[in-house]
Amino acid sequence: MNNFDLKQQLVEWRHHLHKYPETAFEEVKTSAYIAQELKNMGLDVHENIGGTGVVANLVVGDGKGVIGLRADMDALNLTEVKELSYRSLHQGKMHACGHDGHMTTLLGAAKLLSATKNFNGTVRFIFQPAEEIGKGAIAMMEDQLFERFPVDEIYGLHNMPGLPVGTIQTRPGPIMASEDNFVIRIKGKGCHASSPHMGIDPLVIAAEIILALQTIVARNVNPNDTAVVSCTEIHTDGIRNAIPSNVEIKGDTRSFTPEVQKLLEERMRSICEGICAMHGAECEFEYTHEFSPTINEASCTEAAIEAAKNIVGNDKTNGNCEPFMASEDFAKFLEKVPGCFVFLGGKVENEEIIPLHNALYDYNDSILETGAEFFAEVVKLRLGGN
Ligand SMILES: [Zn+2]
Ligand SMILES: [Zn+2]
Repeated sequence: MNNFDLKQQLVEWRHHLHKYPETAFEEVKTSAYIAQELKNMGLDVHENIGGTGVVANLVVGDGKGVIGLRADMDALNLTEVKELSYRSLHQGKMHACGHDGHMTTLLGAAKLLSATKNFNGTVRFIFQPAEEIGKGAIAMMEDQLFERFPVDEIYGLHNMPGLPVGTIQTRPGPIMASEDNFVIRIKGKGCHASSPHMGIDPLVIAAEIILALQTIVARNVNPNDTAVVSCTEIHTDGIRNAIPSNVEIKGDTRSFTPEVQKLLEERMRSICEGICAMHGAECEFEYTHEFSPTINEASCTEAAIEAAKNIVGNDKTNGNCEPFMASEDFAKFLEKVPGCFVFLGGKVENEEIIPLHNALYDYNDSILETGAEFFAEVVKLRLGGN
């Protein structure tokens, strides 16, 4: 297959996947399509792993090394705005995070590697469901992903419409943040708005809590570490002339290490419980871990940087990029096996940046081949190609 054919094939795959977006754990048509394409390449394909997950194995020679390459498959509950010839045919759903491009990139890597076979060992192409809700990686692992299909290392990428087109950027250590969610329920005592002395006002307590939570990042987190605590919703059961009995505050936190994650949870709990106790209100504090921090292993990151330089050149490779505060389900795989996650720039010069999760978003087709070649190069470097 020459380069022109590969490009055409990639665009065809991507536009097909874009037309039929499916959300978390419902990637039925998507995974069937991917499995069929992988079978067409002669790969050993396994379906329904962790729900709709797909794994395809490509074994060349007798090398013992095993590399995992991963793409995510799910779309978002957004209505596509752009008038594309291949626009979403699933009402209210669209590929606004570019996972259509990620799947295509991984199919492209499978196509390249099954044609060149320029390595000695095993490559596993892993297509995971439900990245957006942070549940797909765990679902696959709970379904014995790594027991059935062990890997030594794993690699993944995410397109970034704000980074210059064709650049590959990564860094050793933390590259994407953890996400934890919290709900604070304050139970006071409702009363007439004119008689506050008859009740316990949970709204005043909530105000105090919201402000006090902002001292955690400022006063408890080491200034060399990064963290965000954001209260994003507040609900009361009051009416205009009644002080409510209950207030609920919701929000999320981000950080880059399990230690900071733990510190945030502990400090938040003491602040909420302390302030409520001080005012004679009851407090219920709920804290859940949604995403782990994405932490790149050093030697895998070095390999990814070398692969990037070989494919896009030194000037388009950044081996020490800034981390992103957003979160990524790939982190869960990295807790089990070493690996590296990279960003692939998609920003078109002189054009307005349409961010991820925007209803106008569309993957930049010109970076599909770059991503596929990057993955293939990682395999060549790690499994001793020639
Ligand atoms: Zn997303
Ligand atoms: Zn995404």
